Amino acid sequence: MNASYIDFAKEIGFTEGAFFDPKALSFEDSAILRDGCKANDCGFYGRYWTCPPGVGSEKKVSAKIRSFDRGLILQMLTEAVSCDLQPELFADLSHTFNDMTTMVKEELEKEVGNVFTLGMSNCGICETCTYPKSPCRFPDRMIPCISGHCVNVYRLWDSTGFRRATLSESDFYSILLWNES
Ligand code: SF4
Repeated sequence: MNASYIDFAKEIGFTEGAFFDPKALSFEDSAILRDGCKANDCGFYGRYWTCPPGVGSEKKVSAKIRSFDRGLILQMLTEAVSCDLQPELFADLSHTFNDMTTMVKEELEKEVGNVFTLGMSNCGICETCTYPKSPCRFPDRMIPCISGHCVNVYRLWDSTGFRRATLSESDFYSILLWNES
């Protein structure tokens, strides 16, 4: 896999990116991450198909991620944004960020076929989510939450050697997963 996808991601606004092996992820923080989801600081727990419990059990999501051969993690650094204090700005940023992730996904899919994406949990595709009464309207377009899929994104990002946000910044991450044919 060449680095041109990371170059493309940086051209559209991401700060850095790195390839990784999804089969090497440990999922040792799954229970802590799921407890964090239940604490519901983001306010999306149990409201969207992109979040627990709608995404499925820890076992189901970890098995899905390990079923892929290749992974790409992307980071975007911004000035500090608070989901508690600036909910509207945070929601707008989430939607833009997920749209940027979709642009990279579509570029990658030209070469590798289907790509599964994880990102920020605030799904803005429908005015009202169908959860839990009926299935997701756009299962191929929606981007589930990274933490809800039991990936400790900071542990993964630290393994790339790139820096995280400073105190005056916020950092956001997306993950793209696929199989080599
Ligand atoms: S695409 Fe629509 S139905 Fe699916 S998770 Fe997002 S808001 Fe809910």
